[in-house]
Amino acid sequence: MTVSTTLPDQKKVGMVSLGCPKALVDSERILTRLRADGYAMSPDYAGADVVLVNTCGFLDSAKEESLAAIGEAIAENGRVIVTGCMGEEADAIRAAHPQVLAVTGAHQYEQVVEAVHEHAPPSQGPFIDLIPQPDVKLTPRHYSYLKISEGCNHSCAFCIIPDLRGKLASRRVDAVLREAEKLVAAGTKELLVISQDTSAYGVDTRHEERDWKGHPVRAHMTDLARELGQLRTSEGVPPWVRLHYVYPYPHVDAVIPLMAEGLLTPYLDIPFQHASPKVLKAMRRPANEAKVLERLKGWREICPEIAVRSSFVVGFPGETEEDFAYLLEWLEQAQLDRVGAFRFEPVEGAAANALPDPVPEEVKEERYARVMELTERISAEKLQAKIGKTLPVIIDDVGEADEDGDIGATGRSQADAPEIDGAVYLRNVPETLASGDIVQVQVEDADAHDLFGAIG
Ligand code: SF4
Repeated sequence: MTVSTTLPDQKKVGMVSLGCPKALVDSERILTRLRADGYAMSPDYAGADVVLVNTCGFLDSAKEESLAAIGEAIAENGRVIVTGCMGEEADAIRAAHPQVLAVTGAHQYEQVVEAVHEHAPPSQGPFIDLIPQPDVKLTPRHYSYLKISEGCNHSCAFCIIPDLRGKLASRRVDAVLREAEKLVAAGTKELLVISQDTSAYGVDTRHEERDWKGHPVRAHMTDLARELGQLRTSEGVPPWVRLHYVYPYPHVDAVIPLMAEGLLTPYLDIPFQHASPKVLKAMRRPANEAKVLERLKGWREICPEIAVRSSFVVGFPGETEEDFAYLLEWLEQAQLDRVGAFRFEPVEGAAANALPDPVPEEVKEERYARVMELTERISAEKLQAKIGKTLPVIIDDVGEADEDGDIGATGRSQADAPEIDGAVYLRNVPETLASGDIVQVQVEDADAHDLFGAIG
């Protein structure tokens, strides 16, 4: 028997989710709440009674993208509610799009849900509220973002997130672990731990202890990582657990042995942003200390397979050719596995805008090209060294058979986070292979970002 999940007069909500994984988690929470209130989800504009646009307001380019997405939703549907980071700039949104029904800011879950209730009142079906529903997920079933805190206590000169999202507010550790356990029971094979500053988890609650399965656990990155490593998927193995947005504070050293023990994926996403002490100081970056290269070396001694990904900003105000040369030399020594680079862009309201000595656009471009050239070379060399090795790979997507009957698949090694890192392309996979399977792959070839191979 087929049961329709949409009742005839059930109101439908469309969602356009822009921005970072943290915003995606917000979209999931809003949709989960709306579904509990009796709404159905609409996969397209035409079928929606109201469309939510979850915006990103970090960079000017992201704001433009958000305004364009709002315009498209208005043109296609007409009934649009705006939420998310750019929601803090309601005047700019209303000036561009006076037709929007309501504007709410980041994390204003109650307000956005209220706005939906006001503009598309839910049908009071007799059964809807009684049907237990799993949480809405916008990522594929086999990986999930696990948000452990909101906000940030730092004041990096180029960033307005503390203004948009407030001070650090950590979730209770038992609540985070319960959510992770539920996700893994529902088929998640990979947990991506996110926040603005994962290494600061629990600082605001003085690392409050909670009971978890009969023993106390602190709200602390190391304790959380250890407990996440105790979870088991339906195959009886620990899920992959990746830590994102970690700052190189000394206590980060404590999670590296967990990677060596196989409890934590050997991967750290550390947004260094620069290497020159002078630029880091001007940026007001946390954990800005000189010994990072030594610590990286120490981490690799404990866990040789650790992959470190980072991002860097070039052309920050006051960055001299000497500072930039320092960064290139540092990158050469650090041998990071994955690097994203950005040209500095002023963000409205950020302290960096008042700094003297802006770097001319053409110099930014030139530095950006040089940093990309260097980091691509390092990445290519590191990937070349993997040829001939056998690595675990999580499958994201299985293709259709070609004219010879060969089926290809795309996956990721432990060194690749979804969306931001490279991929592993597999040839000739069995037709029984499915997304979320973890297989051993023999690496046959590599380019600057991706690996190629076959199940070994
Ligand atoms: S650590 Fe710095 S860049 Fe990151 S959210 Fe906080 S203020 Fe912004």
